[in-house]
Amino acid sequence: MKRRKQLTVRQQAQRLVVVAQRHGGIVPVVQAGDPVLRQVAEPWDGQLEADLLAELVEVMRTTMHDAPGVGLAAPQIGLPLAMAVMEDEGEPDAEDPRERYALPFRVVLNPVYEALGEETATYFEGCLSVEGYQAVVTRPHRVRLTATDERGRPVDEDFSGWPARIVQHETDHLNGQLYVDRADLRTLSSNHNLELSDEE
Ligand code: ZN
Repeated sequence: MKRRKQLTVRQQAQRLVVVAQRHGGIVPVVQAGDPVLRQVAEPWDGQLEADLLAELVEVMRTTMHDAPGVGLAAPQIGLPLAMAVMEDEGEPDAEDPRERYALPFRVVLNPVYEALGEETATYFEGCLSVEGYQAVVTRPHRVRLTATDERGRPVDEDFSGWPARIVQHETDHLNGQLYVDRADLRTLSSNHNLELSDEE
């Protein structure tokens, strides 16, 4: 049992902020096998005061950018709290079928999604906590996200294409799920091998 499990979410968040201050604003991303990735995150209930929450958001944003990634859930930095950040500049490319349009930076607390319609999308997906690999995952093409933002305002938004995949992936993290749980594992490929097979 790791010691951090005996600390409150607030104490753990304080520690992460201190660690980040000593490491250029970045904290380590935990990897598959760490139990924190497999537990249901504690719902946001105002555990962190506004200043600490703002500092934590900054740590998560900086860590996500550094990785680099387009989403980061709190359990991925070892914090079992139902919180995630997302941001994607998008890759507008007429030949890219993934509909990877820009997703402006956002923070979600207690996110929940539901599929809208029957349409699905099937693409390779990776995770900062399963370093070096990707696998094909079929997901709903369009989802409705409900959550609270960092200022306590309700979020109720529809997403499609690649942003919908990001929303689902990050929300799944908060339920102790990894993309490999939903993947066609026969497609599991190292990033290196995927690059070899990709003309780009
Ligand atoms: Zn992930």
